[in-house]
Amino acid sequence: MLKTYKILISGLVQGVGFRPHVYNLALKFSLFGSVSNNEIGVIIYVSGVEKCVKDFYNKLLNFPPPVSSIKESSIVEMEFQNFEDFKIIPSSKDGQLNLPLTPDFAICEDCKNDIKSTNNHRYNYAFTTCVHCGPRYALTETFPFERKKTSIHEFPMCTTCEDEYTNPSNRRFHSQTNTCSTCGISLKLINKKGETVETSELNLFKKIRNLLSKGAIVAIKNTSGYLLCCDAENEEVVNKLRVKKNRPKKPFAVLYPSLKQLQKDFVLNEQQLKSLTSVVRPITIISYQNYKGNLALNAIAPSLKQLGVMLPYTGILQLLANGLDFPIVATSGNIYGSPITSKNEDAFEKLKGVADYFLQHNLKIQQPQDDSVVKFSTKFNQQILFRRSRGLAPNYLDCNINSNEKILAMGADLKSSVAFYPNQYLYISQYIGNLENYDVYNRFIGTISSFFNIFEEQPRVVIVDKHPNYHSTKYGKELAQKTNSTLVEVQHHKAHFSAILGEHDLFHEKVLGVVFDGTGFGDDAAIWGGEFFNYEENRIDRISHFEYFDWLLGDKMAKEPRISLLSLASEEMNELINKKFTSNELKTYKTLKKSNTLKTSSVGRLFDAVASLLNIVDYNSYEGEAAILMENMVIDYKLSSCKSYLTSIENGISSKKIIENIGIDFKNGNSKERIILNFLYTLAHLIVEIAKSKEYRHVACSGGVFQNATLVDMLLELVPKEINLYFHKNLSPNDENCSFGQFMYYLNIKNLK
Ligand SMILES: [Zn+2]
Ligand SMILES: [Zn+2]
Repeated sequence: MLKTYKILISGLVQGVGFRPHVYNLALKFSLFGSVSNNEIGVIIYVSGVEKCVKDFYNKLLNFPPPVSSIKESSIVEMEFQNFEDFKIIPSSKDGQLNLPLTPDFAICEDCKNDIKSTNNHRYNYAFTTCVHCGPRYALTETFPFERKKTSIHEFPMCTTCEDEYTNPSNRRFHSQTNTCSTCGISLKLINKKGETVETSELNLFKKIRNLLSKGAIVAIKNTSGYLLCCDAENEEVVNKLRVKKNRPKKPFAVLYPSLKQLQKDFVLNEQQLKSLTSVVRPITIISYQNYKGNLALNAIAPSLKQLGVMLPYTGILQLLANGLDFPIVATSGNIYGSPITSKNEDAFEKLKGVADYFLQHNLKIQQPQDDSVVKFSTKFNQQILFRRSRGLAPNYLDCNINSNEKILAMGADLKSSVAFYPNQYLYISQYIGNLENYDVYNRFIGTISSFFNIFEEQPRVVIVDKHPNYHSTKYGKELAQKTNSTLVEVQHHKAHFSAILGEHDLFHEKVLGVVFDGTGFGDDAAIWGGEFFNYEENRIDRISHFEYFDWLLGDKMAKEPRISLLSLASEEMNELINKKFTSNELKTYKTLKKSNTLKTSSVGRLFDAVASLLNIVDYNSYEGEAAILMENMVIDYKLSSCKSYLTSIENGISSKKIIENIGIDFKNGNSKERIILNFLYTLAHLIVEIAKSKEYRHVACSGGVFQNATLVDMLLELVPKEINLYFHKNLSPNDENCSFGQFMYYLNIKNLK
């Protein structure tokens, strides 16, 4: 007997080829009915023999399209309906939108082959996509993900594309981003005077490869924003790019034309390989010990032993890569500190002093995104996310949320992101950047209003950091007033702790929270950054922290490690200190120190002081440079040969004591590498000792300091079996996670002030 069933599937099921997949599966099982997108996901009606429908359902759940992700599903029998065939029907939207936004997917192998084959309709077409690949979030204006709601709608399909779109056996059946060179997006190469140099698809990329090989800097409009590119083996041009971009030392990422070429230069482990070729295709930071290739490493990643590499992830980059016999620097198209540019005129205005040529196209980018950045620790392969952006944003699917409130969390300031909960899904924006920069601040506001547009919702609760001068806090307060929302303030490090509790679903346990980072406004108005918290029964309490030391000279302290050293150094170190300052500076700073009342427990500044003490760096040219340089100096470690610089913590956790002991070791001729290892061991040992002494079974670590892969490895090695250790994996440990943490804090913590 024939029966009719209604199947509902929610999760990441739109813009991922789900409906065509269902269609083809239904045909295989000889089932009639329909499939469509709705506000919660995909809805399927099928009529058939019960066993056959159940087999179809199981097959669908067990083998969904490769880039999809099912959250929930249900099947119920309903009144019998006689269908004549199986149809894909257009989207219906009756209720409130309740589905993930589809992220951007890297170009698939089939599409790569299409653009490479001379006899293919899409030979050389840079915007080749299919249901399995291509930009999604980058082009999204509103939802659900349908062509007419993306910037692709400006390019009506030609008959060939239309045929593919309507042919169930075609890979582009119902592919919303389907275009070809007849109907689609066109490219244009211009020089810095604005004159058109080349428009022919056939010659364009050959020309760019040629220009790059001759030392030109080319700004390339990709599908998620502009990239600045140059020959990575040409030291002169890489240095030129540094000067023009006003980015003296921060490492550049390198795009390799192919995996084969990358593997010729580097040995990759399984994790790195998986990451580099995944649909996210992030920049993956790998170590380049014993590197013997031709990269201009001193210019690309000065003083570092690691490098961010990636593989082509769009048709544009793939066409550039085909026939390219050298790797290229590919860095976000901006002046250092500004957001990634995505509009032709804007990019031309801002970058004409940087790039010699511009590759432009006429596809509008709605959501500009930088490349995501990831690293794996050497010993335990722990995934550490440095930047969560293209391919990952904006969905955050792995957390338990039970709330009907519309909540907006504004995040921090330095590594900004926002979290929005307009329905039953949480969306965390791409990394936005440092809000101190005016253009970044505008991008931040734009991202929030675009969230409001997409979901057609406004918040009822706005959560901000307690720091009164954060731009995100000020804007959040305005927004709360404008939208008549409840305003909630969350302390910075409690937000970090809540983020790691949320990421690992730990709100039902008793947990030791360890939050080490640069700065954050504390409950006592001191600058926190070396904190230990207790979580239990929906309360967070600060139980211990690094002893306070003087916070001197405001923001200058974070930029000049020598000032952290000055703050932490004892009288015995005068000789060393005197070398780092002019006598005038010394006089002023020492007077300041005497009258100073602002205190800090920051572990970030402790790293700075160690770096200055060891004469590694006195001035940071980019955020976190001192810590990165220090991490780079250690390659391998043996726990048994490490010692702690804190002999006792009975009278407090003293940063001054650590600096004093390091000073002695350094004076006695111990190597910098040895001292750095001991210093990292000191932190790891301290965490484990506190956990053991207070009998914790769960220890959760957050804050920028935990980007240090050696520290993470040491902790994993040092921790006894009975203690579970948690690190961020799908969120960055740095301030990017504060928006998520603020949100989790609001939902779970009772001592909300
Ligand atoms: Zn494809
Ligand atoms: Zn076409």
